[in-house]
Amino acid sequence: MIHLGSYGLIGEKLGHSLSPEIHNRLFQLLDMKGSYSLFEIDKKDIGESIDDLRTLNIKGCNVTIPYKEEIMRYIDFISPEGKAIGAINTIHIKEGKSYGYNTDYFGFGLMLKKFAVDINEKIVVILGAGGAAKAVVQYLLDNEVAQVILVSRNKQEASRKFSKVKIIDYDELKDLQQGDIIINTTPCGMYPKVDTSVVNKDVIAKFKVAIDLIYNPEKTLFLNWAEELDLKAINGLYMLIGQAIKAEEIWNNIKISQAIINEIYEEFVKKSSKK
Ligand code: NAP
Repeated sequence: MIHLGSYGLIGEKLGHSLSPEIHNRLFQLLDMKGSYSLFEIDKKDIGESIDDLRTLNIKGCNVTIPYKEEIMRYIDFISPEGKAIGAINTIHIKEGKSYGYNTDYFGFGLMLKKFAVDINEKIVVILGAGGAAKAVVQYLLDNEVAQVILVSRNKQEASRKFSKVKIIDYDELKDLQQGDIIINTTPCGMYPKVDTSVVNKDVIAKFKVAIDLIYNPEKTLFLNWAEELDLKAINGLYMLIGQAIKAEEIWNNIKISQAIINEIYEEFVKKSSKK
């Protein structure tokens, strides 16, 4: 079946985005006649962006920093996971109405499945209390972890955003005896500041699995240390591809096979290791 459609990404600064490449490759693999554009929008104009999407006949759009929360006010219907998280990254325009979803939530789940990370009854520590952490925390709470511990530089502010998890600061993290999975959701270590990590090696040594939502560089200092300590180390590329796939499924009411997700993932792994 050939699907037609125009799609895109709304954000403030989008120069570095991999999304057009991922979606365009998917259009090829699925024999879809689609186009995916970048829409850099000023803060003052965000309220009009949904009407602009309708005018431009855009069928679906992703949303990134800093609009994932604010844009919800302008959406007609929000999905259950979007409501629970309090942020969306995917908009579907259907018969004039707008629908909002959080596909980071699903992308995170696909990544856990791909790398066989068992979260059942595990203690999971999350570094950072921003937008990505919200999707990760919600997924973990919905999927029977034993405990989620969130680490923030500002416990008071974090507790306003996260009411259902234990919140500690980085000093208290040093006192933690042991955990199962540690997840970096801060931008620390992201290109170009690649020689930083939000925690030191002694902290990482207390865990069995380390996940970094960052995908550029392919291996952050955090993940390099995790590998040196023989932890399972996973970067954010599969999650990124997973959230894009889930958005396409929503926009086109289709199911995309695991084989296609894996094919795109392998291609992007090859590309990023050549950089
Ligand atoms: P964000 O809303 O800006 O939040 C990041 C959080 O990290 C902040 O709220 C802050 O928490 C903490 N943080 C920021 N700078 C820090 C520093 N210098 N030291 C220590 N902590 C710091 O950003 P986001 O949207 O959550 O994204 C975070 C990262 O995840 C980015 O690198 C992004 O590219 C990545 N991401 C990846 C995917 C994927 O699909 N792979 C999806 C979404 C995001 P506290 O103030 O509470 O400490």
